[in-house]
Amino acid sequence: MKISGLLTVDDLPRIAPLICRHTNPRYGEDQTRVVEVRGVRFGNGLPVVIAGPCAVENHDQTLAVARAVKRAGADMLRGGAYKPRTSPHDFQGTGVEGLCILRIAREETGLPIVTEVMDTRLVGQVAEYADMIQIGSRNMQNYSLLAEVARAGKPVLLKRGMAASLCEWLGAAEYIAKQGNLDIVLCERGIKAFAAGEYSRYVLDLNVIPAVLANTFLPVIVDPSHATGVASMVEPASRAALEFGSQGLMIEVADFSRARPRCDADQAINSETLARIVKFARQHHERLVVEQQQAA
Ligand code: PEP
Ligand code: MN
Repeated sequence: MKISGLLTVDDLPRIAPLICRHTNPRYGEDQTRVVEVRGVRFGNGLPVVIAGPCAVENHDQTLAVARAVKRAGADMLRGGAYKPRTSPHDFQGTGVEGLCILRIAREETGLPIVTEVMDTRLVGQVAEYADMIQIGSRNMQNYSLLAEVARAGKPVLLKRGMAASLCEWLGAAEYIAKQGNLDIVLCERGIKAFAAGEYSRYVLDLNVIPAVLANTFLPVIVDPSHATGVASMVEPASRAALEFGSQGLMIEVADFSRARPRCDADQAINSETLARIVKFARQHHERLVVEQQQAA
């Protein structure tokens, strides 16, 4: 007996026909759609590294991190102007002021910006500043927000809900696709499981990467920072993610010569570590190209 409501990957052609390989044959069995964000291309083979602070706290902090991210060789700048915090009493971000700071950082470094929106009423505002709009884990199933963001005409970074199955995640992406926006990049950011709190923040589900690649042509990246919550795990988790076929990384970085970050300080890495990760990502790609040439 099949219990209705219990979904498997066999249901994906029905749940998400617009983004499913099997129902949208344009990308064949193994091609990825290339999603372009101001000249940065996700899904063309070369891993994309997005890095930056958890939150845009102020001008000096953000600019210092943005310059370090640029020097380390990363491709895009991240930073939350609107922060989803567990407690409403915690720092909630700097809002439109933060968006202005991100714009300044982009002007100076040339790095395209990705930033999160949590409220349908603010989609227009965030879209004015962002090159790519992030839907956070907590809002993955906020279907009205998905539709509103999709219609803003910018590429979307769709983080996986921390308790979302593959079908639920791809179903959420389908809400964006249904509005006519196929510029979607998926981001695995760790799921709720036994480890939470004992030795890491979430469990990085690397197993989902090959499953995503098999079922949809949308590019997928990994956020090792939120997935582990532990700075020392970010570099090995990044390497592992690339080995599993991740087409990019999103990493939180801090400038430790300044004030301690106001959120997620324990998972932030320094720019030297970021530079090593970027180098590994480039070399990993070159190694794959050589292997493919040898196999041909
Ligand atoms: C973030 O990337 O800023 C963030 C809040 O992550 P998540 O939505 O995955 O928790
Ligand atoms: Mn964070």
